[in-house]
Order: sequence, then structure tokens, then C-alpha cells
Amino acid sequence: MSDCIFCRIVSGEIPAQVVRRTEDAVAFRDLNPQAPTHVLVVPATHYGAARDAVGADGERTLGRLLAFAAEIATELGLDAGGYRIVTNTGRDGGQSVGHLHLHLLGGRALGWPPG
Ligand code: AMP
Repeated sequence: MSDCIFCRIVSGEIPAQVVRRTEDAVAFRDLNPQAPTHVLVVPATHYGAARDAVGADGERTLGRLLAFAAEIATELGLDAGGYRIVTNTGRDGGQSVGHLHLHLLGGRALGWPPG
């Protein structure tokens, strides 16, 4: 989608601090980090949010995305201390970018419940 900022990052049209890229997904640093490590993991295919990724293709995408985020966490040295993977969905979830993405947060103790 040409008006989607994350699609434009996936296509390389907008620069980002890319951690790792595969054919299916891109992991890049969040512009406004909420933890010492804050990486966004986005699928190359546009889904508005998790709720839009139902059905076989969407479920495959979600599974791969979660596994990819876990691999990135290992690569960034987060396994020992632990980390959080979260996906905000819709207004009440606090989603601000309408392209499915996982937040990978780590490097400090994270509070629970979230605000
Ligand atoms: P959410 O609020 O869950 O939709 O998360 C969107 C995230 O995208 C926020 O944490 C923003 O800081 C981040 N963000 C928005 N634009 C960019 C960008 N161009 N590069 C990196 N992160 C971005």
C-alpha cells in the first residue's frame, strides 16, 4: 500500500535502521524506543492488524513473524534477561500504524500490567 509507512519501509522507499530482513518480513529499530532494545517486526505483506490476519495465509504469516521476532531477540542477546513481544490492535490497543507489527522490547525489567 503506497500510503502505508511500514510498506514503504519494507520496499526500501523510506529508510529505517534495519536489524534483519527476509523475503517475508523486516525487523527494524523503533523511532521512539520504549526500552533499551525496541525493534518492530513487520510482515512484507500488508495486513492492517492481527485481527486481519485470519485464514491460512494470515496464520502462517503470524507464526513466522513470531518465530522471526524470537530469533531477533536471541541475536540481540535478550534471551538471558527475557523480553516482551506485543502487538497493539485498534484504538483501545493503542495501535498507531495500520500495518501489522510486533514490538520486541527488552533490555530492562518491563512493568505489568501495561498502562
Ligand atoms: P503502534 O503504536 O503499536 O502502532 O506502534 C507503531 C510504532 O511505530 C511506534 O512505536 C512508533 O514509534 C513506530 N514508528 C512510526 N514510524 C516509524 C518509522 N518511520 N520508523 C521506525 N519506527 C516508527
